[in-house]
Amino acid sequence: MNTKTVGVIGAGTMGAGIALVCIRKGHQVVLLDANQAVLDKALTYLQSITGKDVEKGKISEQEKADMLDRAKLVSEMEQLAACDIVIEAVPERLDLKKGIFSELSRICRPDALLLTNTSSISITQIAGGLPHPERILGFHFFNPAPVMPLVEVIRGKKSSEDNVQAAYRFATELGKVPVLVTDTPGFIVNRIARPYYNEALRILGDHVAEVEQIDRIMKRAGGFKMGPFELQDMIGIDINFATTESVYTDFFHEGRFKPSRIQQRMVQAGSLGRKTGEGFYDYDK
Ligand code: NAD
Repeated sequence: MNTKTVGVIGAGTMGAGIALVCIRKGHQVVLLDANQAVLDKALTYLQSITGKDVEKGKISEQEKADMLDRAKLVSEMEQLAACDIVIEAVPERLDLKKGIFSELSRICRPDALLLTNTSSISITQIAGGLPHPERILGFHFFNPAPVMPLVEVIRGKKSSEDNVQAAYRFATELGKVPVLVTDTPGFIVNRIARPYYNEALRILGDHVAEVEQIDRIMKRAGGFKMGPFELQDMIGIDINFATTESVYTDFFHEGRFKPSRIQQRMVQAGSLGRKTGEGFYDYDK
């Protein structure tokens, strides 16, 4: 396998996990975030997980040190200039992502593959109007990225076949199971998942059952690994809400995708789930 230099933009929930996946496979990673505290947390995460791998006898101390050496944490976009592949994982906002891809188009080599981990935003729209839209594709990991095997490889209207194949190969080299997806709102998994979250929120809003009850029923009797509220807290309620909003808008406001007021108020209050210590559950207790 060809080892590559992979840029990861956004070192939050997804970016830190994606960086771990890449260093484990021998790639050099340049992990960028606008927030130094997030970068510090990401480094602690990488040290902690690789440390546990040593304790479990999966890797040696030397392999751990080599892995951590392969991760460079940075805060300037210019430091991504030498990357073969860049994976963007900043919050689910079109303006933010477009700005990042516009900068990447200027900074990176024309043959660098530019991938977005967006959960729902149109790849065609992110790439629209930018130079070399043929190298911009969706590359959608699932949370937690080091654990979940699936990666949706999303072809934008102008993505080239060669680059689609290169992204597909890269996902396979990372040990993931790629699936090729057409650029439609929410792609496959998030389109299916919207009604799961929305209906759970409606059941809560209609006072049919409480958060813990709904989660318990879906896990114990429904066979799900996590309930819909535990999942929202893990994903980040802001990210989940933004994804629903984006799918709703892109489906021209079809009622079945309508976002929930309960979620909206939680985002407005800053109760974003595990990452803020409080969501549907209280994590500081
Ligand atoms: P997050 O909020 O945990 O992390 C995003 C990070 O981006 C933050 O640390 C923030 O400081 C950083 N950031 C914001 N603007 C930046 C900029 N201009 N330059 C550099 N860094 C910047 O978000 P997340 O949950 O990791 O989600 C990231 C992307 O991945 C979103 O598009 C989301 O839809 C997608 N995604 C999320 C999940 C999930 O379960 N959370 C799953 C799959 C895909």
